[in-house]
Amino acid sequence: MDIHEYQAKEILAGFGVPVPRGGLAYSPEQAGYRARELGGDAWVVKAQIHSGGRGEVGGVKLCRSEEEVRSFAATLFGRQLVTKQTGEPGKGVYRVWVEGASDIAQELYLGFVLDRKTERIMIVASSHGGMEIEDLAVEDPDSLHRMVIDPAVGLAEFQARELAFSLGLKGGQVAQMVKVLRACYRAYRDHDAMMVEINPLVVTRTGELVALDAKMSFDTNALYRRPEIAQLRDPSQEDARESSAADNGLAYVGLTGDIGCIINGAGLAMATMDMIHLSGGEPANFLDIGGGASPERVATAFRTVLTDTNVSVILVNIFAGINRCDWVAEGVVQAYRNEGLTLPVVVRLAGTNVEAGRKILEESGLPIIAADTLADAAEHAVAARPKLAA
Ligand code: GDP
Ligand code: MN
Repeated sequence: MDIHEYQAKEILAGFGVPVPRGGLAYSPEQAGYRARELGGDAWVVKAQIHSGGRGEVGGVKLCRSEEEVRSFAATLFGRQLVTKQTGEPGKGVYRVWVEGASDIAQELYLGFVLDRKTERIMIVASSHGGMEIEDLAVEDPDSLHRMVIDPAVGLAEFQARELAFSLGLKGGQVAQMVKVLRACYRAYRDHDAMMVEINPLVVTRTGELVALDAKMSFDTNALYRRPEIAQLRDPSQEDARESSAADNGLAYVGLTGDIGCIINGAGLAMATMDMIHLSGGEPANFLDIGGGASPERVATAFRTVLTDTNVSVILVNIFAGINRCDWVAEGVVQAYRNEGLTLPVVVRLAGTNVEAGRKILEESGLPIIAADTLADAAEHAVAARPKLAA
């Protein structure tokens, strides 16, 4: 799960990372007030979206007057920002961060990531900040320094100093860097983060280290024990289909095809998607409704799949071991009636209570297409799609 820059800055500041003073605004007027509260004569106004690369697409601006802060903020609110990282259709701007501008002497890159190879937290740092890490890795790979942290020891002081030296820092900046590194490490570890990135971490003209940007993302599987992080979730920044599925506890991944899939078991879901491809179709989603699917849960799965307007046919494929086919069938019938469904629905049931399940579907009188095998189901689904105009 990702959070906003201003939230990441607040967390990191709590561990001792120096960040500029700033304030959040939900309207252009409020952005103006924030600038006045902060004082000074230059502010940076920043669109808060779950993405980097905002600077390149006009989501970040240095402003010299309160009026400029207000008018630039007015251009941001409600806008969809498309960055290198978001892709189409971009992410909506509903919050804007205003902070006192810093005088930059040097920009550094600092990232903490999970290194799956060593199963440890790894620091990646570069003396050339400002660029995205992907570009840095291509354009200036020699400037990248990596350091793996032993979980039993934590980030040792000597390691932090070594990294500071390798970035070319001197004198008092080395001690500041050690403090920043240790703070980021603790913030990462204590909150079950997956990533902490400060880009740029700058050296100001007066020699202070300051985090001008901050990004954190968290392990979704650990959110149950991090309620203070879970409450930072912002559904406006998520794929609408995926956030509604997450609200309902369904494992859903949105895809680009038009065959909506409702399947139990991740393995069967993958196999079904392959089978759809083989039959010449494209799945609209991955969706695993899990083992104990009640009729209500099946109905919820239908609602989730139907939030995707590209869907033109729904394929239900249930192999009931723990599940019961009659429950699933009831769920399909309920969904058909309650959701006022008009799309073709292909259903393949197998396993526990399959006869009872089929009977429920037949007796419902609904135009449900029954299939016996996985291959059958995929072919029926592809054939049931409305014919596209040539
Ligand atoms: P990103 O493009 O989404 O990564 O947003 P950043 O927060 O990194 O801002 C983009 C760029 O704006 C930075 O790389 C800086 O060069 C510049 N910038 C951000 N804050 C300041 C500031 O306080 N002063 C100055 N002069 N430039 C800034
Ligand atoms: Mn940045």
